[in-house]
Amino acid sequence: MGDNSANTRPWYLKLHWQVLFALVAGVVFGWLAPAAAESIGFLGDLFLSLLKMIIIPLIFTSLVSGIASLGNARSVGRVGIRTVIYYTVSTTLAITVGLTLVNIIHPGAHLNLAGTEHLPEGFSTATQTLPEFLLRMVPDNIVAAMAAGEVLPVIVFAILFGLFLTRLNGPNVDAVQRVVDGILEIIQALTLAIVKLAPVGIFALLAREVARSGPGIIWDMRYYFVTVGAGLLIHATVTLPTILWVLGRRQPLVYARKMAPAIATAFSTASSSATLPLSMECSEEAGNRRGVTSFVLPLGATVNMDGTALYEAVAALTIAQMYGVDLGLGQQALVLVTALLASVGAAGIPMAGLVMLVVVLQAVGLPLEGIGTIIAIDRVLDMMRTATNVWSDLVGTAIINRFEGGSS
Ligand code: ASP
Repeated sequence: MGDNSANTRPWYLKLHWQVLFALVAGVVFGWLAPAAAESIGFLGDLFLSLLKMIIIPLIFTSLVSGIASLGNARSVGRVGIRTVIYYTVSTTLAITVGLTLVNIIHPGAHLNLAGTEHLPEGFSTATQTLPEFLLRMVPDNIVAAMAAGEVLPVIVFAILFGLFLTRLNGPNVDAVQRVVDGILEIIQALTLAIVKLAPVGIFALLAREVARSGPGIIWDMRYYFVTVGAGLLIHATVTLPTILWVLGRRQPLVYARKMAPAIATAFSTASSSATLPLSMECSEEAGNRRGVTSFVLPLGATVNMDGTALYEAVAALTIAQMYGVDLGLGQQALVLVTALLASVGAAGIPMAGLVMLVVVLQAVGLPLEGIGTIIAIDRVLDMMRTATNVWSDLVGTAIINRFEGGSS
């Protein structure tokens, strides 16, 4: 679904420039005219709804069609194993950067305990056990899972459906495959149309966010903000580009520019799932094979969250420092493992990472009420970690694409 005229058009008609402009204009508008920004917020919600509308059919059809194009269970297994290795390594690197910075900067020493008396509303201390998590992945009712927009069970069903489709032959099965491919083509054309609205959606969402939060609160929590922000920045601009360059053989800057619409959408929506249609579009546009794109990205949007994992580790240690608790190396290793698991368990929706922080805090016996303090700047950190999450998925796609013999 490439756009052949893309190179001949003037720069201001190119999506990545429009998106960058929307980011800057959104911040300025939200700052200067908060009331107007609030009233145009519905345009952003509209963009978000359009994206959410196509997520489930897109995941299902692209996975089935992608698996069919990979050919057989063995290729799917190979891509699957490589994908899981990439997810684990990149997320562990992200957490390591976060832990290093939080030990150097000590943001918790600069925060007070105001707001820690009560656990914020909506937080449950009942965390999921691993068997519960695995059970949730296999839907007992696929229609209910689709209706509820639960991505992971739909992915599992689509993978099984695709695998069995490749094992069978005959006119009926071929007809099903053609129908799935046809629906995918239609959904992709629809995605392309929605993507054109990204600059408007990004502008409106960001302007409202700036109008609501304001910069004052960030200043009050600057040490914590800088720790998370610097960690994400190092991971996104040093670690991931290095892996991309060495293993994926891509020019990081060129690749990042092609991914700008997806990254900016992740930033303004704070939702990896809602960004999925754009990530898939950008990835195919950049030449990644459909079989790889449609496998790595939907799965990555729900389980590969480098930014979230980094944030979980920094937040947990910040809370420990706030309470004057000194976590030793063993305890920090436990934070690393639980942050990794919590990031896998977090859904690709706003604030999911903050909710999953409960898991990490419980693992090392820290008071959950600490969440009450750091929640104040969660939204802006959520935007930053979501952009990192999506960027990591896209880097992984390029790497696995290369190992699968695709273009680089
Ligand atoms: N909002 C993040 C995402 O969608 C998850 C999180 O809250 O960390 O990727």
